[in-house]
Amino acid sequence: MVQKSPLPSTPASGLSKCLVQHHPKHYCGVFGIHGHPNAAELTYYGLYALQHRGQESAGIVTTDGKTFNIHRGMGLVPQVFNSDVLHRLVGHTGIGHTRYSTTGSSNIVNAQPLTVDCAKGRIAIGHNGNLTNAAQLREELEASGSIFQTTVDSEIILHLLAQPARDGHESAGARDPHGFRPLALGRMDNGAFVLASETCAFDLIQAKYVRDIEPGEIVIINSEGVHSIQAFPTPRREAFCVFEYVYFARPDSNIANRNVYKVRVEMGRQLAREHKIQADVIVPVPDSGNCAALGYSLESGIPFEMAFVRNHYVGRSFLQPSQFIRDFNVRVKLNLIADLVRGKSVVIVDDSIVRGTTSKARVTSLKEAGAKEVHVLVSCPPHINPCVYGIDFPERSKLMAATNTHDEIRRFLNADSLGYLSLDGMVAATGRPKNAFCLACYDGNYPVDYDPATDKHIIERRRSRAGALTSELEASLRQPRLL
Ligand code: SF4
Repeated sequence: MVQKSPLPSTPASGLSKCLVQHHPKHYCGVFGIHGHPNAAELTYYGLYALQHRGQESAGIVTTDGKTFNIHRGMGLVPQVFNSDVLHRLVGHTGIGHTRYSTTGSSNIVNAQPLTVDCAKGRIAIGHNGNLTNAAQLREELEASGSIFQTTVDSEIILHLLAQPARDGHESAGARDPHGFRPLALGRMDNGAFVLASETCAFDLIQAKYVRDIEPGEIVIINSEGVHSIQAFPTPRREAFCVFEYVYFARPDSNIANRNVYKVRVEMGRQLAREHKIQADVIVPVPDSGNCAALGYSLESGIPFEMAFVRNHYVGRSFLQPSQFIRDFNVRVKLNLIADLVRGKSVVIVDDSIVRGTTSKARVTSLKEAGAKEVHVLVSCPPHINPCVYGIDFPERSKLMAATNTHDEIRRFLNADSLGYLSLDGMVAATGRPKNAFCLACYDGNYPVDYDPATDKHIIERRRSRAGALTSELEASLRQPRLL
């Protein structure tokens, strides 16, 4: 999402660190609004609704058409902004960003939106996803004189945009040609247009959903309205990230006119059709397993109980990691109501098993509470490949299903049985065709080629390699010459 305007600014700071992370992390949430007197406040609430997509840093840039006002900081949206800050963010146009780092470290320099001054004025950008050829693009731009301030791939887009800058004060939203990440257009009562990663952001600010931005589409919003350009006249293979439906998107969002909650319930129903288990109770791992567990219960007729109670106020752990502390960290988020499971055969439903440690802890606590049997079901297929498109799925060696057999995983979890939703079952639950999705972390078919060296620190590594070479050269020049 891009905002252009003629030029100044104010930076900012804050601090926070995430705690125990049991699921793959997301990358970012983006939000933009054009033509509203309360642009900063509405962007703030938009980011609030998109907090689940990134919790490391947040930022807002607003403009009145003449100046840019910027505030970025580390931490959650309410930690980064307060009323004084929002008051300073004047202007009727704004973009905002919540970030989890997928390329570039988590630090304030890499917090977005990013801004750049160019010949035609100033540009701000908030970006969600990964550039799979970031290192190559950056090398080309640096060779032609671009100077980078951060190590995030998003800055590359800024430099690309700065080259053929258009005149005028406008906002733009663009979706990649394969449509990996969601982006939707909405409208406020006063006519202002809004763009957001997910439609749940529209609900909070009472904007009406207009439509999804198409893969490869660029929408330019200015005083004349919305102008749409299809940047890739030859359609590319669509590759929407299916894991958005499984886990990442909020259940109150709609993607491609499908409600995420309903899709997850359908995944649970499908799981029940594929794995018939004689159990007494279905228990979700909250919150990610809630909808699928409900679906399993509805389809099977087995009662549903919220036996795990989530502590929503778990903060950062300041204690040094040790096995004792790690065990504590796994338990601190969820507490079990033992009465609901004692002496029963229990099915627990979760959305994924990545490293397996948290699932094992859930099984252990159920058995310690007296559950007779514990069956683990997962509402998607096993993850056996890393993601290179913006989700922090680790390398293969750290993915439990990539390095262990089905029965080894079951034994590691100490579960009586283990079942995954099939690939076809997962896709069928979305109601969309298989070729509309990226399924690479499940089936290894990567829809877009990528640099195998790509990981989140690639640009930093390049920079430190370049630094090391320069120091080596300087050191060699300092050597006394013999001849
Ligand atoms: S590899 Fe998996 S997580 Fe990554 S974009 Fe594809 S489906 Fe989504």
